[in-house]
Amino acid sequence: MTFTTRFAPSPTGPLHLGHAYSALLAADMARAAGGRFLLRIEDIDTSRSRASWTQQIYDDLHWLGLSWPEPVMQQSLRLPRYSAALAQLTALGLTYPCRCNRRDIEAAAGAPQEGVPQFGPDGRIYPGTCRDRNMADAGPQDVIRLNMEKAVKAAPLRHFEETGEAHAGQHMLEPDQLIAAVGDIILVRRGMGSAYHLSVVVDDSDQNITHVVRGKDLFEATQIHVLLQALLGLPTPIYHHHRLIRDDQGKRLAKRDDARAIAKYRREDGARPQDIRAMVGLPQAPL
Ligand code: GLU
Repeated sequence: MTFTTRFAPSPTGPLHLGHAYSALLAADMARAAGGRFLLRIEDIDTSRSRASWTQQIYDDLHWLGLSWPEPVMQQSLRLPRYSAALAQLTALGLTYPCRCNRRDIEAAAGAPQEGVPQFGPDGRIYPGTCRDRNMADAGPQDVIRLNMEKAVKAAPLRHFEETGEAHAGQHMLEPDQLIAAVGDIILVRRGMGSAYHLSVVVDDSDQNITHVVRGKDLFEATQIHVLLQALLGLPTPIYHHHRLIRDDQGKRLAKRDDARAIAKYRREDGARPQDIRAMVGLPQAPL
């Protein structure tokens, strides 16, 4: 299969230096391998996504010298695809509706116990209050969760290959770890028709992504993605979780970090694309 990478931003704010690094690295790796670089707009959260941010993402990335095949995959247009994947998991008996809000979950989780993780890559580990509810009772007020205990038994557990330097090597999924330290993740958020983990797995497969290049803050989420790939019968790409770009105080850049927005560097500071490459520690692109 053609070596294929992607950059998958959510249009909820301006791209900053961290995004520039991720996008340029993914494109550089594809170019070096004679492969393809794709773009995907992750806008299932319609309450936070804006078309104007999507346009600015295109402008910033073009300015950085990147190009990609059209049409760009846009998650908000693909809800039927995610519903089909959810139906597959439901047919396996692995899903249930959940009406708990944050306060219910905190109350049910009780006081923290030593050695028992409270938070995983999908947020607070769900205490299981709604686990016995049936999908036939699912309503608009519910989220849909994956029953992790059943899920790890339903698929042959896979390993995945990581090439990012912080975690390089083969990683085997561990059922006990998935149950205790990840728990019953959300597959569909209230009113959204999907959620990040389900969409990203379906999309990476539909775009034939062979190498997922993204920040190492998502390394822990990868075990969820590989599990979902196994359950849905999708291929597992190679993962490359790269270092994070930090501010002068060593803090990771956030979406609201407008001071490091690419648009600011190029419009107000007169920076050139090669200056951005130098700032994030990437070699200059071959002409
Ligand atoms: N949309 C995610 C973000 O902006 C990236 C997801 C991914 O690369 O898997 O953080």
